[in-house]
Amino acid sequence: MTIYTGTIVDTPGDPFHGDPAGALRQDEALLVTDGVIAARGSLAALRAAHPGEPVTRLDGGLLVPGFVDAHVHYPQIRAIGGLGLPLLDWLEQCALPEEAKLADPAYARAVAAEFLDNLIAAGTTSALVFGSHFAPAMDELFTAAEQRGLNMTSGLVLSDRILRPDLLNSPETALADSADLILRWHDRGRLRYAVTPRFSLSASDEMLDACAQLLGKGVWFTSHINENLAEIATVAGLFPAAQHYLDTYRRHELVTPRSVFAHNVHPDDAELTLLAEHGAAVAHCPTSNSALGSGLFPLRRHVERGVRVALGSDVGAGAGLFLPSEALQAYFMQQLLGPAGLPLTPVHLLYLATRAGARALGLDERVGDFAVGKDFDAVWLRPADGSTLAVNLRHARDTTDALARIFTLATPADVAAVWLRGVRAQSV
Ligand SMILES: [Zn+2]
Repeated sequence: MTIYTGTIVDTPGDPFHGDPAGALRQDEALLVTDGVIAARGSLAALRAAHPGEPVTRLDGGLLVPGFVDAHVHYPQIRAIGGLGLPLLDWLEQCALPEEAKLADPAYARAVAAEFLDNLIAAGTTSALVFGSHFAPAMDELFTAAEQRGLNMTSGLVLSDRILRPDLLNSPETALADSADLILRWHDRGRLRYAVTPRFSLSASDEMLDACAQLLGKGVWFTSHINENLAEIATVAGLFPAAQHYLDTYRRHELVTPRSVFAHNVHPDDAELTLLAEHGAAVAHCPTSNSALGSGLFPLRRHVERGVRVALGSDVGAGAGLFLPSEALQAYFMQQLLGPAGLPLTPVHLLYLATRAGARALGLDERVGDFAVGKDFDAVWLRPADGSTLAVNLRHARDTTDALARIFTLATPADVAAVWLRGVRAQSV
């Protein structure tokens, strides 16, 4: 047992429905037993109830729930910074040549370690990870994630057309390799499996049928949608009978409460209605959308239609693994949208970086806030003395104001410690 004490902040409520301020909660201490939060309250009360238990003091800064990244690419950790290209050119010139190198398991092992250590050092404790096109590279990722205690959902990336030939697999191979990976890794500790066609642009109807068969095994589903206008036009040409981009997945029953679609920058109203009806979630990736010039995410339309939205870093198109930077960019984009935008408060930003992701990934019974009974996945954000953030935190009026300053100024250098189910990460 350990008692942690500091300024402990989480968002058990939903700031998109009701008063945003009412979604925020603050406490002084948490009691953690075997990695799970057993009690919360004042330090005096927890010490009185549990005398003799060790107390870890987290003085300065804030303790918040571990971040949940709903869309990030493991094979792209070495491919960040390819500026100046739209999506399809960026894929061809920056991302896919690097992804092809993961055919070598030793290369994949090194990339998996770099990816996961940096993800955790950025405060992310749960993630829906877009995998590799190579099954041995997925074994490397799952093995490394298990060693580190990351709460991870991931899967083999499937494509059978248009991409460079060394990244393609047939629907038959996709079925066999995925079934094998599901057997070994799905629901093993904190790991889960997600069926992952890259996007319907590179997946034929036969491949999407194979995905539907795999989804029948009770696993998760993720892919890309409506990111870029040239991509959308290509998909429309490839599926002339589809009503819209989402229909290319819906026709194969891939739009479900266990489905997470990345981007959705350019949806039509029918797609938003379908996503809401089927309970599927969207991963909004603001720095990626900005870097690739993909567009300004219509958050208000998603929220008003009842579509769940989480945040993704989308590394390597995104500008880094630090979810608070994605939250800040999401705020910027809603400001830039003017009257069509949805103004975000600091409470919205904390919610988007934590509980919204847990809900999108169906993990909200286990993580995303500091309720009693949930896993102690936590990030201690404490800036170095004298830094601009430290100066600003000293002058914050209240906790909400402190959150605003953290989301504006914090970087991964301000992550002082990370806990994964009660175990302090060594890589931070
Ligand atoms: Zn992506």
